[in-house]
Amino acid sequence: MSESTLKTRFAPSPSGEIHLGNLRTALFNYLLAASRGGVFLLRIEDTDAERSRGEHAQALMRDLRWLGLRWQEGPEADGERGPYYQAQRGAIYARYYQALETAGAAYPCFCSDTALQLARKAQRSAGQPPRYAGTCAHLPAEEVRRRLAAGERPTLRFRVPAGGQVEFNDLVRGPQRYNSDDIGDFIIRRSDGTAAFFFCNAIDDALMAVTHVLRGEDHLSNTPRQLLILQALELDAPAYGHVSLLVGEDASPLSKRHGSLSVRQLREMGYLPTAILNYLARLGHSYGDDSYAEPERLAAQFDLERLGKAPARFDPSQLRHWQKEAVQAADSETLLGWFREAGGVLPAGCDAARGLAVLDLVRDNVEMPQDIVDWVSRLCGEPRPGEAEGRVLLAAGSAFFAASLSLLADSSGAFREFAAAVGKQTGARGKALYMPLRVALSGAVHGPEMGRIWDWLGRDACRERLQAALDYCRGAEAHAETV
Ligand code: GLU
Repeated sequence: MSESTLKTRFAPSPSGEIHLGNLRTALFNYLLAASRGGVFLLRIEDTDAERSRGEHAQALMRDLRWLGLRWQEGPEADGERGPYYQAQRGAIYARYYQALETAGAAYPCFCSDTALQLARKAQRSAGQPPRYAGTCAHLPAEEVRRRLAAGERPTLRFRVPAGGQVEFNDLVRGPQRYNSDDIGDFIIRRSDGTAAFFFCNAIDDALMAVTHVLRGEDHLSNTPRQLLILQALELDAPAYGHVSLLVGEDASPLSKRHGSLSVRQLREMGYLPTAILNYLARLGHSYGDDSYAEPERLAAQFDLERLGKAPARFDPSQLRHWQKEAVQAADSETLLGWFREAGGVLPAGCDAARGLAVLDLVRDNVEMPQDIVDWVSRLCGEPRPGEAEGRVLLAAGSAFFAASLSLLADSSGAFREFAAAVGKQTGARGKALYMPLRVALSGAVHGPEMGRIWDWLGRDACRERLQAALDYCRGAEAHAETV
């Protein structure tokens, strides 16, 4: 890989399941890399030992793989700039802390939390923005040694150069400018020795040669601090782009309350990966055309210029729309796998070829795997009319089905001709003709085109089904007479 290769990354903290907001960030980075022949890197930001869990990192990788978002560099992949778990990079961060301290760009700060809180309060009530007052910024070396020897545990603060400006061109939001005096010296290592997230994050992006970072706008205010750190260490900074947050109907950040689910939950419900990708890729990024696209096309048409600044609103009905599109577009093998994963079993007598054909037959009427399971049992198993279906059959009555059965014996053509003959003989027309035939043959009041069902069932199965409808009506009619 040449140094000029575009490299994006996804850097999740494995503290829980991956949700749609985070996934969208991953997807944008993936699509940006894929659109420019670049590298997509995965880094696990697990420095927070209390909240990070190995199993979350594993689940996260499983989710990304399931969605087809393969990373070329990172855990369980190639790459020479690892380790890709931050918990294993402590020695690297220690080196850079040391370098900053030696250069005088960072200093130990002994201020207690209480003292800092009081100072912030005073600043606020004086109408000033809360900022570190610089109490420990120039402690004599001797005092530092003495306090360390006495067992005090300082934080490490970054010394922000006075009177400067931090400027950068955000990939999404355009030119940004901050006065360094408004930032105030900030903590890069806590008193318990743990690292501030934005410190490791910046160092790793530089060391891993990440060139482009797309992340949520909640990280915008971290960026000037990260740029200052990298500048002080003479490390290259990536270009940052802050994408708008994902919000719910009520414009507040997306949460479970809005029907936002984790990737695992969506998978278990039966959503197809490409449905999720088509939906998320369009949330905050406009595609010229609204037709379903395979991931390659989503990548080919991805463009930083098309990322919006306004918050993107999550709409569960849109996700379902893309699910239908994805079912339409899926090949038969994928549908069969999807059906089986959901516990669907093809009935005896329905071999794989016939199974694939039935899946194709019903795909327009399917949104979730349970829908296929229901259709397969209706079309391959014994028809069991429910209440609505029973009413339709009884309204037509046994004479209608007796006529249909006798006409079937002479019929060798398409469904249309058969139905016309039944209409002619029974006098039934329109809905009164087609509905009972549909219910008798397909077992449901709505569904795929009748001609296709007719062809798929074949003559014998049609006969059995019309006979079953006839028996059903006769049974009911006989019962009615005796009551
Ligand atoms: N670990 C951070 C997070 O999950 C990464 C932020 C970033 O993308 O820079 O929020």
